[in-house]
Amino acid sequence: MGSGETMQQDGGGAEAEQLAGALLTIDLDALAANWRALAARAAEAECAAVVKADAYGIGIEPAVAALARAGCQTFFVAHPGEGVRARAVAPGATVYVLNGLPPGAAGAFVSAGLRPVLGAPAEVDEWCEFAATRGGPLPAAVHIDTGMNRLGLTLAEARVLAARRTEGPFFQIALVMSHLVAAEEADRPINRLQIERFAAVRALFPRVPASLCNSSGLFLPQSPCLDLVRPGYALYGGNPTPGQPNPMRPVIGLAARVIQVREAAAGDTVGYNGRWAARAGCRIATISCGYADGIPRAASGTDGRPAGLGGVALVNGQPCPFAGVISMDLITVDVTDTPPGAVKVGDRVTLIGGPLDLETVAARAGTIGYEILTSLGRRYARRYLGGA
Ligand SMILES: *Cc1c(COP(=O)(O)O)cnc(C)c1O
Repeated sequence: MGSGETMQQDGGGAEAEQLAGALLTIDLDALAANWRALAARAAEAECAAVVKADAYGIGIEPAVAALARAGCQTFFVAHPGEGVRARAVAPGATVYVLNGLPPGAAGAFVSAGLRPVLGAPAEVDEWCEFAATRGGPLPAAVHIDTGMNRLGLTLAEARVLAARRTEGPFFQIALVMSHLVAAEEADRPINRLQIERFAAVRALFPRVPASLCNSSGLFLPQSPCLDLVRPGYALYGGNPTPGQPNPMRPVIGLAARVIQVREAAAGDTVGYNGRWAARAGCRIATISCGYADGIPRAASGTDGRPAGLGGVALVNGQPCPFAGVISMDLITVDVTDTPPGAVKVGDRVTLIGGPLDLETVAARAGTIGYEILTSLGRRYARRYLGGA
């Protein structure tokens, strides 16, 4: 955790916010409300929370604390180190590590109280052998691949495991899971195919709780929630139903400080490599935020860029396009069309928030909202709201 965050949490917030180039606001009440909404949608299924990658960039400790208070009891991370951080905040929770069991790591998992999501026969063997040395079964999840071809046992390997399970006493499958390839594209045939394949997997492990859904999976017409759902993105305000209204509450807002307002003569270029030329009467606001803060350079406002690309800042709600190439620490914004005096040094302009939702910001950088979230900069002052 950076010192900026520590200052936030021990009350030095106002000064840290004033000195920082940009202010990231994180609404923990909205996070908790999103979890409750997804839990309600999941009906009888347990609603877990995916908090990998520092809880998609918002901070794993505050996120896990708020989610645990809301009632979440199961967390998924990608790395064991993330699992340790989640456990420290929610000691009673169950924590699964999605990226599996690294060779030789079983002892470390057990002492940290983490459950691996076993994704290959070798990992299953290693976990069983370690459990045997402990003289008792150790809970773990097993990931079965139904179409992603990334992690997970094949269907054939799952059958072998299911047959073997009755023989060895040292393996407790606490969860059998798979992952959807294209849940956010509800009409893709792969969704139905994966649901069918996973039904066959469940039949192999009759009494084991099963899990298939990520955020978008929860919104598929088949609603394949089963026993446990694993949302991530939607918790953080991302739209699980792209192209349709976002059912989730926004969780983050980002506003960067204006550090200069200046004029540029018609025909002058702005920024590195002269990739944007000013028109008559041009005014440029330079803001204290750049690609080193996670604003993708692909959102640069260069002349002749493809339609739909190029970032926007909101100045008192008015959209103003980025002008020229995004620098490491600075972005130049074309504020020519704002009323005189509307932009002053020290003001903050919105980069994420309101109409600039995660999907819009991402599309303008040619990426997805997940990448915007998980790239959120380490230099921001972070203001956590709610969560009490
Ligand atoms: C990241 C991840 C999730 C969460 O996905 P979202 O689309 O963010 O809801 C669920 N399951 C697995 C296996 C994942 O890797």
